[in-house]
Amino acid sequence: MKPAPFEYLRPASVAEALAVLAAHADAGADVKVLAGGQSLLTLMNLRLARPEVLVDIGGLAELDRVFSDEHDVLIGALVRHRRLETDPELRAQVPLAAAAAGHIGHVGIRNRGTLGGSLAHADPAAELPLVMVTLGATCYLESRADGVRAVPAEEFFLSYFSSALRPDELLTWVRVPRLRPGQGWGFVELARRHGDFAMAGAAAVVDLAQDGSVRGVRAGLMSAGERPLLVSASGPADRDALAARRWDALAEAWTAGLEFSEDPEYARQLARVALRRALTDAETRADADARAVA
Ligand SMILES: Cc1cc2nc3c(=O)[nH]c(=O)nc-3n(C[C@H](O)[C@H](O)[C@H](O)COP(=O)(O)OP(=O)(O)OC[C@H]3O[C@@H](n4cnc5c(N)ncnc54)[C@H](O)[C@@H]3O)c2cc1C
Repeated sequence: MKPAPFEYLRPASVAEALAVLAAHADAGADVKVLAGGQSLLTLMNLRLARPEVLVDIGGLAELDRVFSDEHDVLIGALVRHRRLETDPELRAQVPLAAAAAGHIGHVGIRNRGTLGGSLAHADPAAELPLVMVTLGATCYLESRADGVRAVPAEEFFLSYFSSALRPDELLTWVRVPRLRPGQGWGFVELARRHGDFAMAGAAAVVDLAQDGSVRGVRAGLMSAGERPLLVSASGPADRDALAARRWDALAEAWTAGLEFSEDPEYARQLARVALRRALTDAETRADADARAVA
């Protein structure tokens, strides 16, 4: 199928893009940002999306950049999945994102799809939203009316394909905390074939002190609800299991209350297995890191 007719605009700068978005949003037009087009163009071809105006930001080199300091990496919204996956510096600085990016679709899709597009699309079965929630990243949303808003990834995803972005806003940058010494990561995806959307997936960061005690854990699940789901120790039993590094018990407890619409027992089992493996991988990497530091 072909998309419904639309007006196509290609701003030359972020400022121009924000002005165009503001003008059309103020006029009540259905205006959409186009980045890599790997989700939006499919929806338009199927006529599930019929924007009147398309603002193509794909050529804005200013958003295809990466900066890093001691604590964080600042990644532009137009950084492609393939760069996250293969760039040696990004692989070293945000290895969880690099590993997850390698699971997105196929190389052709990863060559075009962007970090900002993946987050803005807010698919609960997507890899990068889960990674950003698990790492405690911050999304920067920019508009001509209100300047820049910093929204924690945990608050950015609202529901299925729905985010905190307003029609006049652009997601411009994502600030991602780098792992500290003693922290290890794990990412596990269960899909029918590599590159298919996940049936279940989990990301985890385990933080170990030099004496081997658990300082903290952040873990999350994809394809387990209306948005990427952060799970954490909530009661004494969880805290005991955490101290004893009993990942199977934690994975069991943290998936017990989830509600799945299709084949719930099978889906819960997949989520539990993915979570246990991600936590175990994260612990193994944290252990190796803590030993290297000692
Ligand atoms: C065959 C196939 C398989 C795929 N498999 C996977 C998979 O396994 N995992 C996965 O996560 N994804 C998968 N994808 C989707 C892919 O990752 C997309 O690249 C991604 O979801 C959207 O990124 P994009 O840059 O292409 O965004 P676009 O398609 O251009 O835009 C997507 C949405 O985000 C909005 N948007 C884009 N950028 C911004 C911005 N900077 N600010 C505000 N709004 C913005 C658009 O308006 C639109 O609503 C697949 C796609 C295809 C075609």
